[in-house]
Amino acid sequence: MSLEFPDSLYSLSAPNGAAPINEPRTLCVIVPVYNEAEVLAELHRRLTAVIDGLGVTAEVIYVNDGSRDATLDILYRLRATDPRVAILNLSRNFGKEIAMTAGLDHSRSEATVIIDADLQDPPELIPALMARWSQGYDVVYATRLSRDGESALKKLSARYFYRVIGGMSPIEIPKDTGDFRLLSRRAVDALCRLREQHRFMKGLFAWIGYRQTAVTYHRDRRSAGTTKWNYHKLWGFAIEGITSFSTAPLKVASYVGLVTAMTAFLYASWIIYKTLRFGDPVAGYPSLMVAVLFLGGVQLAAIGVLGEYLGRMFNETKARPLYLVETYEPPRQGERDLPR
Ligand code: UDP
Ligand code: MG
Repeated sequence: MSLEFPDSLYSLSAPNGAAPINEPRTLCVIVPVYNEAEVLAELHRRLTAVIDGLGVTAEVIYVNDGSRDATLDILYRLRATDPRVAILNLSRNFGKEIAMTAGLDHSRSEATVIIDADLQDPPELIPALMARWSQGYDVVYATRLSRDGESALKKLSARYFYRVIGGMSPIEIPKDTGDFRLLSRRAVDALCRLREQHRFMKGLFAWIGYRQTAVTYHRDRRSAGTTKWNYHKLWGFAIEGITSFSTAPLKVASYVGLVTAMTAFLYASWIIYKTLRFGDPVAGYPSLMVAVLFLGGVQLAAIGVLGEYLGRMFNETKARPLYLVETYEPPRQGERDLPR
């Protein structure tokens, strides 16, 4: 299902050329950064070039997710030259999902944009996102038409991941959409109320609802540095996505059990019939083995699925804070200076 609204719908609320619904005043850009020393200067140059043209009071929150390279030094240098820069320095590497959450918690602006540091999400798209927001949308996400510089296997696995999770989850998660998006104030407030430990942000963005729409773009290759994802991490991410947003695997266990039991029953009936009709002598060690091993496998798999959910419940019950902040350097000038 697409969440597109026909043009006529929002022109109702903003009739012919009248002022749009939202007059943007403040913008916050959140950039999660983990070992991105090579790209930061270029990112900031392109980002500020775009922001300067917007005519809004802006701030850029760089969330340093426990980088081990020169990232933090570079961020401090950027903040020294640009008063709009804020640095949120987490106490260790918490992962991108948590880093984004930390950024969202610190955003006070009317509109918030989340963007990757590696320039795979073009900052030049921000005006287009803002334009849609002005028309009254709460979540404007950027959907990729193409992904340059990524292996065929990654593209294929990403493609199937979105299809699988779409099929299993009752929440509509937009396909081929990363975390690059613009959020309205109430969308950010809603997200800040979701404090679960296992955060599959793409799912959470969809879960909050409100009016959502897409803007399409071509995804570039990384401008420098290397991806922080390997297949092991991606697999974990996929499991996270499925278990956070779907209980279908729990049901699969029951259905497989049911089907196995039915098959066993039919097979037993056949054996009884055969013995009565032909008086077959005892045989069938192989079939016995196959049945035992098959059932054992099914049971172990089902217990494993239960374990995945149980482990997540265990983590949630600990109710730990999602992240710890080592230092927070607010912007030296910006949205906070505006009269309330
Ligand atoms: N990132 C992060 N914490 C991590 C891993 C990544 O904050 O533990 C940031 C990273 O600096 C980048 C964004 O998340 O800004 C996307 O990471 P990456 O480009 O490695 O992911 P990909 O584009 O390959 O999905
Ligand atoms: Mg990337």
